[in-house]
This record gives sequence, C-alpha cells and structure tokens, in this order.
Amino acid sequence: MKRYLLLAALIVAACQATADDEPMCKKRKPGTIVSVNQYCAIVLDDPVDPAVVVEWKGQKVGLCCKGCMPKWEKLSEAERDAALATAVAKGEIKD
Ligand SMILES: [Zn+2]
Repeated sequence: MKRYLLLAALIVAACQATADDEPMCKKRKPGTIVSVNQYCAIVLDDPVDPAVVVEWKGQKVGLCCKGCMPKWEKLSEAERDAALATAVAKGEIKD
C-alpha cells in the first residue's frame, strides 16, 4: 500500500516535470477547473490541470500539464480553434 502511494507521488511529480510524460497524466488533478474545456486541448484523453491554463481569444483553455504549453503555442490559429472545439466536445470529466 505504502509502495503504491509512493509510486503515485512519483507519477504526479513526473507529470509536471517534463514534456514527455503526458501519458501519465490520466488522473484528475486537484482544484477547480475554470477553463472552457475539461479535457486537455492537446492530449484529449487527459483531464485538464486547473493550474495549467492559457488564454486564447478571451477564453481560458485548460491543458493537462505544462508539457502541453509549448505544443499549444506551436499550433496555428485554425489548429487551436479545432483543438479547443474537440476538447470542449468531449464534455465533462468522467471519473
Ligand atoms: Zn496536455
């Protein structure tokens, strides 16, 4: 049991540490989601992290981890619109 908790803590830490760990970010993050999307606009299977929000056309766009920020920045305007629309269409997070 203790081992499992340690592992979970390590996964959470890794999630925020590098850009290559998004597959580990499947879990719902603590905090209240204020973005228009509840699933990450980059990694559509991952719930957004309320602490990772970018502004886009006056809206708050949620991402699942900081690793997604540079990926979002690289998208064109049309790609951002499409990514956000897809993420919003996924609806609310299901635990
Ligand atoms: Zn993400």
